[in-house]
Amino acid sequence: MKRASRLNYLPPYPFAKWSDRIAAVRKRGQEVIRLDVGNPDLPPPGEVITSLTAAAHRLDQHGYSHYRGTFALRVAIADYYARRFGVSLDPETQVLPLPGSKEGITHLSIACLDPGDVVLVPTPGYAPYSVGAILAGARVHWMPLKPENEFWPDLKAVPSSVVEQARLMWLNYPHNPTGATADLTFLTQAVAFARRHHLLLCHDAPYCDVTYDGYVAPSVMQVEGATEIAVEFNSLSKTFNMAGWRVGMVVGNSDALAALAQVESNVNSGMFIPIQDAAVQALSVSSEWIAARNAVYRERIAMVVGRLTQAGITVQLPLATPYVWGMLPPGQTSEEFAVALLEQTGVAVTPGSFFGPGGEGAVRISVTAPDGLIAEAMTRLLTILS
Ligand code: PLP
Repeated sequence: MKRASRLNYLPPYPFAKWSDRIAAVRKRGQEVIRLDVGNPDLPPPGEVITSLTAAAHRLDQHGYSHYRGTFALRVAIADYYARRFGVSLDPETQVLPLPGSKEGITHLSIACLDPGDVVLVPTPGYAPYSVGAILAGARVHWMPLKPENEFWPDLKAVPSSVVEQARLMWLNYPHNPTGATADLTFLTQAVAFARRHHLLLCHDAPYCDVTYDGYVAPSVMQVEGATEIAVEFNSLSKTFNMAGWRVGMVVGNSDALAALAQVESNVNSGMFIPIQDAAVQALSVSSEWIAARNAVYRERIAMVVGRLTQAGITVQLPLATPYVWGMLPPGQTSEEFAVALLEQTGVAVTPGSFFGPGGEGAVRISVTAPDGLIAEAMTRLLTILS
């Protein structure tokens, strides 16, 4: 079989390769504690599961669904944005449910980019932003995110020759992998930058409700005029511990949503209707449920940060996301460190290099595992650092 030449430019998904390595370690009989993936260990709200099972028993709910999602789900997403951010969205044109936001993120590039276009992508950052660009034949311009700049890109540092060819810019706050947050002032500057340079601003906000210590994450849709220039991806995966259900959404600019819907309707056939019914239920879950879940993550994070700080690793207490971003001592790459940790102790963390060139020198630790396992992993991790 001849593989398409575009695969030469498409790196294997780093987590897929990493999972194979973990499987090999497990096969040798070593028990592995996985703090590498952001896969919530806690269950979704009970009423969401009840809704799914009840709907699954209805025998008329098992066919294909509308490719733009049920109207009820689009209204529930618009209601969520109104309640949570005070933003008004038209459920017909400014809301598009997605069978997973990763899928929509990747397909948006296919919908909006031509070969040779430039895409501004933050690094460290979530891999699908650049993967979508590669699939579309577009070129990636990395925007480094640095701790001294709050992990915000320096928009003024993007060369004008690059900006002229750029069509799309990705941002993601609260940020995976660093846990950094952005305020509305920065998002307002980003919207102004996108407007000035005729870019589609794509903000990715799946961690907007995984927050701590009273921090409330903004939506880019709160910026005046954002729907003219921006879209925002969001997801039920992290907010409601529903990662395997594959329910996401994109809201905002109606032209971009229509372009994405054109791709989506050609490549998938909608979401299982009982899952959409349950997603409607999830979007009205009480803020107390979210706060209680966040309190669990917050305690785990405090423990991880405390243990790493003791060991001389530079870490900051994040205000959002289930991730701790730890700067490694010099001397080895992040992948070398993570491989040694995995092979010697059975603890899996994510090498920072999985998040692009700007992630080198750090590792991401996810607290989406039971407390006891995280504590055990920290004890093991400290043995190889001492
Ligand atoms: N965006 C970011 C920044 C993420 O970290 C993730 C998942 O880890 C996603 C999007 C995708 O979420 P999903 O495809 O589960 O909706």
